[in-house]
Amino acid sequence: MAQATTRNYYKILGVTQKTKKADLKKKYRELAKKYHPDTNSGSKVAEDKFKIISEAYEILSNAKKRKAYDRERAYRKRSPRRPKSQPNWNAPPGGFGREPGGNRQGFEEPFAQEPESIDPDMPTSGFDLQFMADVPLPIVALGGTIPYTYEKYVHCEECEGTGTSGGDECPECQGKQLIVRSVTLDVKIPPGVADQHTLTILKEGGAGRNGGPPGVLFLKICTQPHPKFKRVKNDIIQGVTISSKLAEEGGPLEIETLTATTTIQVEEETLIGEELRVPGEGAAISWGKKRGDLIIKFNIEDD
Ligand SMILES: [Zn+2]
Repeated sequence: MAQATTRNYYKILGVTQKTKKADLKKKYRELAKKYHPDTNSGSKVAEDKFKIISEAYEILSNAKKRKAYDRERAYRKRSPRRPKSQPNWNAPPGGFGREPGGNRQGFEEPFAQEPESIDPDMPTSGFDLQFMADVPLPIVALGGTIPYTYEKYVHCEECEGTGTSGGDECPECQGKQLIVRSVTLDVKIPPGVADQHTLTILKEGGAGRNGGPPGVLFLKICTQPHPKFKRVKNDIIQGVTISSKLAEEGGPLEIETLTATTTIQVEEETLIGEELRVPGEGAAISWGKKRGDLIIKFNIEDD
């Protein structure tokens, strides 16, 4: 019994799980005629085929048996599938998963919605995943690499993604071939990338099944608020409080930039809210090497 149900009756009859009873009957009659022992002068191959075709038809033509067969098949080969919908580009920030291990959008939902009507042996693509990554402002402004940790389906290590181990269902993945693991990826952040920009990282989504390709990882960049700097397009704004004496008399002042420190010259009679531009110390322009300015906004201490 157990052996019989490992057969794909749909394939045997050349139909799909959606095929209606009338068409099923037609298909069966065609095949039965072709392989009937009477018309094949006792061929053993034809006889065996005829038996299997009859067996398939017996199960699939009976609503109750077919349902049980479908359920068993789905259970045996249950696996994650690529979500039907494409990522929603207009999704609010809450629609994206957050690292680490937070909202695991991208695979929990489709897993629950898995359709049971797909051939379990068919290669299927891995899930496309979409997450948000909090990136420090200096890295968003100037580019760099961040380690990003997220969870996804990978090929089961135990059975090397085959789903079977020694002829039996792999106990580690229950035959699903895939298993959820936390992975860390070095993600390259382009210099001067816009806040909320979504990076498309090919092949870093969930692993595929039956040799199917991996999914895509969509990573939305969220600039972490910085205690000193604010970014406005390509410029970086920094508020600096100076003494009333320095504001009145002017003089050198050491300030922080995105990467180091530098000394600026405060002019005489500087007023509250006045700005001073430090050229080329802002954020990168359009993923390139040119940079915007650092703008110092003065505040003056009360005496
Ligand atoms: Zn396994």
